[in-house]
Amino acid sequence: MTTTNSLIERALALAPSALLINGEWRASSSGAQFDVLNPATEEVLATAADATPEDGMAALAAASEAQDAWAATPSRVRAELLRAAFDRINELSEEFAALMTLEMGKPLAEGRAEVTYGNEFLRWYSEEAVRINGRYASSPEGNLRILTLKRPVGPALFITPWNFPLAMATRKAGPALAAGCTVILKPATITPLTTLAFAKVCHDVGFPPGVVNVITVQDTRPVTGPMIQDRRLRKLSFTGSTPVGMALMKEAASNVVRTSMELGGCAPFIVFEDADLDLAVKAARLTKLRNMGEACNAANRFYVHEDIADEFSRRLAAEFDALTVGNGMADGTDIGPIVSAEQRYAIDELVQAAVAEGGEVLTGGKIDEGKGFFYRPTVVTGLSPESKLVTEEIFGPVAPIVTFQTEEEVLGYANGSDVGLAGYLHTGSMERALRMAEKLEVGMLGINSGTISNAAAPFGGVKHSGIGREGGPEGIEEYLETIYVGFPNPHTGL
Ligand code: NAD
Repeated sequence: MTTTNSLIERALALAPSALLINGEWRASSSGAQFDVLNPATEEVLATAADATPEDGMAALAAASEAQDAWAATPSRVRAELLRAAFDRINELSEEFAALMTLEMGKPLAEGRAEVTYGNEFLRWYSEEAVRINGRYASSPEGNLRILTLKRPVGPALFITPWNFPLAMATRKAGPALAAGCTVILKPATITPLTTLAFAKVCHDVGFPPGVVNVITVQDTRPVTGPMIQDRRLRKLSFTGSTPVGMALMKEAASNVVRTSMELGGCAPFIVFEDADLDLAVKAARLTKLRNMGEACNAANRFYVHEDIADEFSRRLAAEFDALTVGNGMADGTDIGPIVSAEQRYAIDELVQAAVAEGGEVLTGGKIDEGKGFFYRPTVVTGLSPESKLVTEEIFGPVAPIVTFQTEEEVLGYANGSDVGLAGYLHTGSMERALRMAEKLEVGMLGINSGTISNAAAPFGGVKHSGIGREGGPEGIEEYLETIYVGFPNPHTGL
């Protein structure tokens, strides 16, 4: 227990209770603060500064003033700073993992996995920083030499969600800083601490003043709205729900701010009759219950061929049943609390509506009484494809299972959604896997697996799941402008 208490103290000490603007940690200009809760205990963990619109504009001014010098900083220097931040986070990996568990609820083992995953964006983009290139070509008519060069877009504002407090910040900051953009981070109100700790690492390893800024705020729009309308802001990257993303796109349109939008998902998890059932059940558990199901790429709706649906459902329920739900800091916890009372209520409401429609709960299906926002992993069968539990993003540890007979039928179900972020497919036929990959309307598809996210891969969706990609060589393009320079070719004349 003493070891845990000292880890908690060290983790909380990483996050300053202040705003980082122009290289200085300062209080909100109003002096206001707000509480950050531990979802496992409902106790106040820490307080964060509640930024005012003036603070937001001060952060934008700092980012704008630092922009030219940062863009002109040799890419090797930018790369080395990113690498230093990566190394520092590695040294503090246990504290970062614990901080995420404390403010968000995920089990400590998952916090550690997020440190590995999220931090990799800093290392991967430190390696990309020195490989930003244009091209040289000749016009088909031979009269022009075509040169392109890449320039950083400019100051970027990041608005991020609560579910992956470190990775959502690094997935944006890594490529942006590598590209030469200055940044302002605005973490989710309920989980600001990890982003503050990340900003502190950037500050401590020597990013120049104004290059990395962070504002925390309780009521976001009055602060970010004027920033988005300001000509100095050149980029808005948002990860969060589709309705908020749509509202932000409208705001950005009136100032023609470039946007990247990583929005909601409703991933289909399709199991054909020729699948390896052991593997499919294991992958289903992983992709459904990682982060308590609070992941945009979590399997949301399970379509299982009718020949194997009973066995699949029974085995998945048995796996869920064996898991330990509890405080993420405790040894042996598999599933932590849901992030907030509201989120847990929204999950339960969907489950109860499904039960009222005739859905059968094989395991779970109710709120755990007592302190902390716990919800047991749940499997529901006997659902129609139109059930809200199937068609809406659950963002919780609930697996609704629908049966199907044919490939065309399941393709219709999967593509019938407005969103298209991730999808998962289990089959023993390579030909079928490729056929489905060509037709499924998703930005990312995992075949016979439950894990797809990687710093080297392009993460993003189609349809209402958003615009743009994070990760891989595609990710840095979100922060670069392509400038075309035309030279006449004197040998062929003007
Ligand atoms: P959310 O949309 O409620 O909030 C996201 C962020 O936007 C937070 O920082 C919040 O403070 C801020 N915000 C809320 N209203 C705002 C407004 N009017 N103006 C400006 N900012 C505002 O989402 P959430 O509940 O934090 O996260 C869950 C959602 O995020 C899910 O839909 C999930 O699918 C999505 N998500 C998507 C990805 C992806 O990569 N596509 C990754 C993680 C989460």
